Amino acid sequence: MATTTQAGVTSAHAGEMKKHKMLIGGKWVEPSTGNWFESVNPYTAKPWALIPRGASEDINRAVAAAKKAFYDPAWRNMSATARGHLLRKLADLIAGEAERLGQIETTDNGKLIAEMGGQVKYIPQWFHYFGGLADKIEGRVIPIDKPGVFNFTREEPVGVVAAITPWNSPLLLATWKLAPALAAGNTVVWKPSEFASVSALEFGELFERAGFPPGVVNIVAGFGTEVGETLVTHKDVAKVAFTGGDKTGEHVYSMAARGLKRVTLELGGKSANIVFDDAELDEAVKGAISGIFAATGQTCIAGSRLLLHRPIYDQFVEKLLAMARTAKMGNPIDPNTQVGPITTQPQYQKVLDYIRIAKEEGATCQLGGGPAKRPECGNGWFVEPTIFTGVKPNMRIAQEEVFGPVLSIIPFDDEEEATRIANDSMYGLSAGVWTTSIRRALMMSERLEAGTVWVNTYRAVSYMSPFGGYKRSGIGRESGMEAIREYLQTKSVWIDTVGNAPNPFIMRMGGQG
Ligand code: NAD
Repeated sequence: MATTTQAGVTSAHAGEMKKHKMLIGGKWVEPSTGNWFESVNPYTAKPWALIPRGASEDINRAVAAAKKAFYDPAWRNMSATARGHLLRKLADLIAGEAERLGQIETTDNGKLIAEMGGQVKYIPQWFHYFGGLADKIEGRVIPIDKPGVFNFTREEPVGVVAAITPWNSPLLLATWKLAPALAAGNTVVWKPSEFASVSALEFGELFERAGFPPGVVNIVAGFGTEVGETLVTHKDVAKVAFTGGDKTGEHVYSMAARGLKRVTLELGGKSANIVFDDAELDEAVKGAISGIFAATGQTCIAGSRLLLHRPIYDQFVEKLLAMARTAKMGNPIDPNTQVGPITTQPQYQKVLDYIRIAKEEGATCQLGGGPAKRPECGNGWFVEPTIFTGVKPNMRIAQEEVFGPVLSIIPFDDEEEATRIANDSMYGLSAGVWTTSIRRALMMSERLEAGTVWVNTYRAVSYMSPFGGYKRSGIGRESGMEAIREYLQTKSVWIDTVGNAPNPFIMRMGGQG
């Protein structure tokens, strides 16, 4: 058996690890290549599981299974209420497995168990919410402007949905796609990240247990260029729901465009967290810490640009540094750990490269600024929580997504300047505003170009509230009522009710009866 690491290196540990399979057409199958690759635990930097290395042939089989399931009466004729029931049953099964799934993700991508525990326990809410929505997908009767016709709309599923997810929150981000896609009656082929596939492959079993017909959900693991592209360009895929980096998103968008597919993209960010002089400063300090060091900064909504009102600048930086210095690094499986490892070796190198670039650009490193060599960090890919002051809005460190625990601090004088700096970004995923003034809160939430604005809080999400990006942060919305529309297409039905056909040589336009 050939096994390679994510970097393509042949491994000596293959025998000790669980060898996963892929879910295609309701069966657990081996990859057509006969090859597996290793998933690495970022805390130990050692492989711990074997992932099937899917190929185009596996995608073709999975899409064929999803297409067959889409037209199969077992799914197509299932009532919307029964579909909703399946989603709610799945939610209950996830709740029962939450602890195990949380531990798998922590081992696979290094995200804190302290966060994963809550995150996986919250995932069922999406399936409950969209399960509840399944039988509330309704069309309209339109009081058309012509006599003798009855016009109504139907909201129908789009077909086979390709779901592609990144490594930072695999189950949560897949849930944001799967729950509305299935509630709307679509079928799915899900490709998780090659850096964090284990939880996806374990999760697959729950669809079977909940009673979804075979082929409604298929999971193919593998690399973006090997299976991702085949999936995106497959002629039988009607819609691509992608979460990942903006450069990959741009490529996925252009590939999908060639097939005229529907697309939603959840991409990166460079979010501004803005603190005014009237803010509750201790709360805002916690908000700034949560914005950049939670999830080790590996979150699309990281508040990686901290904009500080000049009157409180010195005082705030001092408080922030004091709290950041107390951050407890270490094994993410320890519930007391506050900052874990970087998930992948290439990402670790990227974060260190950005720290070097920031120093070369003339930013002042106030904290951290390199690899963490603390004993509790073991052999993992750890970077010290890093804070830069003296950052100019046009520096690369203020413009580009680092996706790590690196904060850029920029001062401002008034609302106008704060708005200008915050919006001077190719991204627009989220923003934070810290103020006790209702006027400022409303004014800033109106002016900021971002899909989410948090006032006096940060990093809050819910199944009920739409989430998505402005500008290069994405297209479309996930969660909330908006999300289900992304998985439906509208059909307009006309019925003649009088049988008195008008002139057949002209179109029936307004006023022509
Ligand atoms: P990535 O873009 O490298 O990969 C994302 C997924 O795309 C993976 O499954 C990967 O295998 C696949 N992929 C890669 N190349 C592909 C190709 N050519 N065709 C089809 N699929 C391909 O992103 P990542 O490094 O895994 O994740 C980090 C990025 O994700 C960050 O930029 C982050 O901001 C973003 N992200 C966004 C959100 C959001 O909701 N907006 C949430 C989490 C992460």
